Amino acid sequence: MNQAAICYRICPRNPGAHLFEVHCTVPDPDPAGQRVGLPAWIPGSYMIRDFARHIVCIRAQSQDEPVALRKTGNGIWICAPCSGPLTLSYEVYAWDLSVRGAHLDTTHAYFNGTSMFLQVHGHEHDSCVLQIDPPPAGVGDGWRVATALARVRAEPHGFGTYGADNYDELIDHPVEIGDFSLTAFDACGVRHEVVISGRHRTDLARLGRDLKCVCEHHIRFFGEPAPMDRYVFLITAVGDGYGGLEHRASTSLLCQRDTLPQAGDAGVSAEYRGFLGLASHEYFHAWNVKRIKPLVFSGADLSREVHTRMLWAFEGITSYYDDLALVRSGLITSSAYLELLGETATRVWRGSGRLKQSLADSSFDAWTKFYRQDENAPNSIVSYYTKGALVAVALDLTIRRATGEARSLDDVMRLLWERYGRSGIGVPEDGVERVAEEVAAVDLGEFFERMVYGTDDPPLADLLADVGVDFVLRPAESDSDKGGKPARKGGTETLRSVLGVRLASGAEARLSQVSDGGAAQEAGLAAGDVIVAVDGLRATSANLEKSLHSRKPGSRVHIHAFRRDELMEFDATLKEAPADTCVLVLREGADAATCARRAAWLQGTAPRAEPAAHAAGG
Ligand code: ZN
Repeated sequence: MNQAAICYRICPRNPGAHLFEVHCTVPDPDPAGQRVGLPAWIPGSYMIRDFARHIVCIRAQSQDEPVALRKTGNGIWICAPCSGPLTLSYEVYAWDLSVRGAHLDTTHAYFNGTSMFLQVHGHEHDSCVLQIDPPPAGVGDGWRVATALARVRAEPHGFGTYGADNYDELIDHPVEIGDFSLTAFDACGVRHEVVISGRHRTDLARLGRDLKCVCEHHIRFFGEPAPMDRYVFLITAVGDGYGGLEHRASTSLLCQRDTLPQAGDAGVSAEYRGFLGLASHEYFHAWNVKRIKPLVFSGADLSREVHTRMLWAFEGITSYYDDLALVRSGLITSSAYLELLGETATRVWRGSGRLKQSLADSSFDAWTKFYRQDENAPNSIVSYYTKGALVAVALDLTIRRATGEARSLDDVMRLLWERYGRSGIGVPEDGVERVAEEVAAVDLGEFFERMVYGTDDPPLADLLADVGVDFVLRPAESDSDKGGKPARKGGTETLRSVLGVRLASGAEARLSQVSDGGAAQEAGLAAGDVIVAVDGLRATSANLEKSLHSRKPGSRVHIHAFRRDELMEFDATLKEAPADTCVLVLREGADAATCARRAAWLQGTAPRAEPAAHAAGG
C-alpha cells in the first residue's frame, strides 16, 4: 500500500506568454506503466471542457532518464514502465479569465487545480503536496498567495508548500496569486477572508460586514459549527463579466467592479444586491452540493459526463435561498426580495421551453442543452436554476400549508444536512423527494410528478396567497422590462404590439431569438436575420420596438431584412404582448394570521421545537 504523497510543483513561469510550469512527481508509479490525465470538466460546471487542450508540451522522466509517454485519449497518457519516482513536467497555457479555468499575465495568476494538476490513476486517494513557487524575478514583486488549501510550509499568504488529503481535495481549492486587496472577518468562530484582484475601489470594511451577515445566516441555518475551518472569497473585479463557482472552503467570483460598494455608498443598490446574491449562492453551496451531494457526484469520473436528474434541487433550491438569506439577514427589504422573486418568475414565464422540458430532464441534459444553449433555447429548454427556484418556493409553501406552519423547506434542508451532508453519504436520485415527504408527512408524489418530472408551472398564485402576496402577470412594458415591478401608471391601459423577438446587442436590429408562435416566426423571420426597414423606413435596434408598439395588435407591417447577404421581404401581423411579466405584491390589509405566516416565511423563524404548542396557540 502506498503512503507517500504525490508531489506537485507549480510556478507562474512566463506571465507574458501566459504559461505556468507544472511538475508532478509520483513516488511509486505503476510498474506496468503509469496512467495520468487531466479532468475534462470541473465540478459545479457541467460541460466537457477538455482542460488538457491547454497543455503545451509534456515530458516524463525517472532517475534522470527520459520516460516515453503515449497519449491514449483526450487528456490521458500512459508512461512507459519505470522503477523509482516518475516526474511529469509540462507547461499549461492560461488565458481564460473565468471562474472555471486559469489565467496568468503580468498582473496576477489564478488557477483551478482541474486545469493544472494531472490525476495519477490508482493514486487518487493518496495525499498530495503542492509547492507554489513565485514568478521569475522582475515580475510580480509583492505578489502573495490566497487559497483555502492547508498550509504545510508557508507563511500566511506566502509561497511555499501546501497540502491536501487526496486529489479531489487538491482540485477543489482555486488559487489566486497577485497583489490583491484583502479583508477578513469572523463568522460563528470561523475566519473568512475576502480577496479582491483587479482594479477596484471597494469599501472593504462594508463588504466584510455585509458578507459576515450572509455567512452567519447560512451557518446558523444549517446549525453550528460550520463545516469548514476557514473560508475564502476569491473575487476578480473586471469592467464586464459575471460568474461564480462553489468549492468546499472557498468560492471564485467574477463581477463588474461597480457592483461592489464604495466608500460613501448608502443602502444596497440593485447591482450590489446582485453581487451579494451571487456570494450568498456560492456560500450556500458549501452545504448544498459540496457536502449534501448527489450520489453520482461522489468520486465522480472527471473524464466524462456524469448525469443526475437533481440539479433542480442543488441549483434551484440554492437559487431560492441565496436571495431569501438577504432578506432574512436584514440586508434587503421584503419588497426588494419580492422584486427579485418576480424577476426570476418573469425569466421562467418568458420561455415557452418550460412547457416542453421538465426540470428532471433539464438537469440530466445540462451537459448538452443548458450549458450549450443556442438561439432556440427559450423555445426548447427550461432553466433548472430559475424554475428550480420557483419549485423550491412552491415546495416550501406547500410544506408550510400541509403542516399548519410547523415545518418548512428549511427543515428539509436541515434533515438533508443531518442525513447526507454530515456523513458524506451521497443523496440517491429520489433522496430529496423522500426527505421532503418525511418532513411534510404527506404524499408529495403528485407535486414532484407535475413540477419536476412534468412541465406544469408551479401554482404560485395559490400558494403565495397563504402568505399575503399577490402573484400578478402583466404584459411587458418595453423590451428592457425585467418584471418584478408593478406597471407604471396607465401602463396596462395601452395594448402593446410585439413581433416576438429578442435583439442582439449592437446598433443593427439583428434577431438573436425568435419566439415560437410569435408574429416574426409566423411571418418567416429567423434568428440571425437583420431587420433593415419596417414599412419602408429604416429600422435599427434603437427604434424597432418604438416603431411597432404604438400600432394596434393585428396590424400588418412590411419588413425588409437581410438573411446572410440576401435581402428578403416579410409581411408580419403584430400580436398583443403576452402576459409574461410577473409581479409579486404584498397584499394590503392581510389578516393577522396571514401576516404571521408571511413573517415566518420571510424572517425564517428558528426551527420549531414544539410544533404542537404552536398549533394550539395559532
Ligand atoms: Zn450554483
